[in-house]
Amino acid sequence: MNDPYVTSVAQLKKIAEILKLPADVVERLSVHDKFLEVHFPVTMDNGAVRMFTGYRAQHSNARGPYKGGIRFSPFVNQSEIRALSMWMTWKCSIADIPFGGGKGGVIVDTKQCSSAELEGISRAYIRAIHAIVGPDKDVPAPDMYTTPEMMGWMADEYAKIVGEYTPAMITAKPIEKGGIEGRTEATGLGGFYVLQNLAERERLDPKQTKVAVQGIGNVGYYIARYAHDAGYRVIAIADSRHAIKNDQGIDIDTAVEFKKSHGSFEGMPGATVISNNELLALPVDVLIPAATENVITSENAETIRAKYILEMANGPVTDEADAVLEREGVVVIPDVLANSGGVTVSYFEWYQNMHREQWTKEKTFSELKKKIDSAFDAIYSYKKENSVSFRMAAYAVGVSKVVEALKNNS
Ligand code: NAD
Repeated sequence: MNDPYVTSVAQLKKIAEILKLPADVVERLSVHDKFLEVHFPVTMDNGAVRMFTGYRAQHSNARGPYKGGIRFSPFVNQSEIRALSMWMTWKCSIADIPFGGGKGGVIVDTKQCSSAELEGISRAYIRAIHAIVGPDKDVPAPDMYTTPEMMGWMADEYAKIVGEYTPAMITAKPIEKGGIEGRTEATGLGGFYVLQNLAERERLDPKQTKVAVQGIGNVGYYIARYAHDAGYRVIAIADSRHAIKNDQGIDIDTAVEFKKSHGSFEGMPGATVISNNELLALPVDVLIPAATENVITSENAETIRAKYILEMANGPVTDEADAVLEREGVVVIPDVLANSGGVTVSYFEWYQNMHREQWTKEKTFSELKKKIDSAFDAIYSYKKENSVSFRMAAYAVGVSKVVEALKNNS
C-alpha cells in the first residue's frame, strides 16, 4: 500500500536532484511547519455526544498564508493530509498565487450524517483549529465531501470566535457570504485554458482533435462543455456507471439533459455504451481523467492510446503508470497545472474579500486565463529547455520558487 507522505517526500527528492538543491533545504521542505491533531465532541441528532478526530497540516508558508481544502471522509489519515498539504505548496507556487500549502480533514462518513450533524461537525472543527487559521495565516476551502454551505458555517463560527465576520478566512463560500462568481466553473475552465495552450504549442487543430472525458461531475462537465463549444470533438464521456461514445462528437448539454431525464447515459440516441476501461483506451488525441485518483495504473497503462493525458482529477495516474506512459511517449499534463484553476479562483475570492470588492464573472475568467497562460508558459519552456516530462517541469518550477522564497525566510 502506497504511503502518500512517503511518496510526496520521494517526489521532492527527485526534484531536488534535478534542481541540485542542498540537503538542508530538502530536509526543511520534507517536514511540515505545523501538524495539528484535534479531538472534539459533537451532539448528534439522537442526543448522544460523539467524539471526532480532525487534522490540519501546514506544510510551508514561505510564499504566503497556508492554503488547502478540508476533506470529510472515513479514510482521512495523517499521511494523506501531510502529503496533500505539501502538494498544495507546489500547486500554489506553480499557479503563481501568493499562498503556501495546507490541508485539513475530519474522519467522518458524511453519508451517515444529517445536515444538522454536518453543521455541528463543521462548526466544532473550526472551533478546534481556529487559533491557526485566518486570512493571513491559513485559508481553508472545500475538498472531498465538503461543500460551500459547510464553508459558510465555518466562516460564521469563526466570526463568533473572533468577534467580526472575516470572509477572507475561508474560500468557496456561498456568494451571499462573500463567495466569488465563477468558482463553480473555475477548475474545468482553467483546464480548458490549459488545453488551449497545449493545442497552440503543439499545433493541434481543435476540429481534428478527439477528446475523451472520464467523469462528468463539476470538473469534467465544464471542461467537456468548454471544449465542445470551442469545436473540439468530444467523442466519449463517462460517469461512474456508464461510458458513451460517438465518433462524430457528443453534444455535452444534450447528454447531461438526457441523463437527467432518463437517469443515466444508457440509451442516448446516436451514442454507443462502452466500458470505462474502453474509454480510457480509446485512440483519442486528448484523454481527460476528471473523476477520481488512481484510474490509470500499471494494470492498464499499456492500453492507453491517447497522445496527451490532461489530469483534471487529482492523482489519476499512479507513479508506476507514469513511467510506462513516459516510455510509450504519452505526454501527461499534470494535475498541479491542469486543475489549478480552482485554487487560483479561490485566491481571487480571498483577494476580493481582503479588498472589500465583488468581482464579476467576466473579470474572474479573464484574470484566470492570464494566470493559466503564464503558468503554462513557464512550465512548457522549462520542459523544452531541460528535456524533462511535463510533471517534472511543473514541480521544478513550483519547488524552485518556494526555495527562492525560503532564502529570505530562515
Ligand atoms: P464530482 O463529484 O462533481 O464529479 C465526479 C464525477 O466522476 C461524477 O460524474 C462521477 O459519476 C464520476 N466518477 C466517479 N468515479 C468514477 C469512475 N471510477 N469512473 C468514471 N467516472 C467516475 O467531483 P469533481 O469536483 O468534479 O472532482 C473530480 C476530480 O477533480 C477529483 O479528483 C477532485 O479532487 C479533482 N478536483 C476538483 C476541483 C474542484 O474545484 N471541484 C479542483 C481540483 C481538483
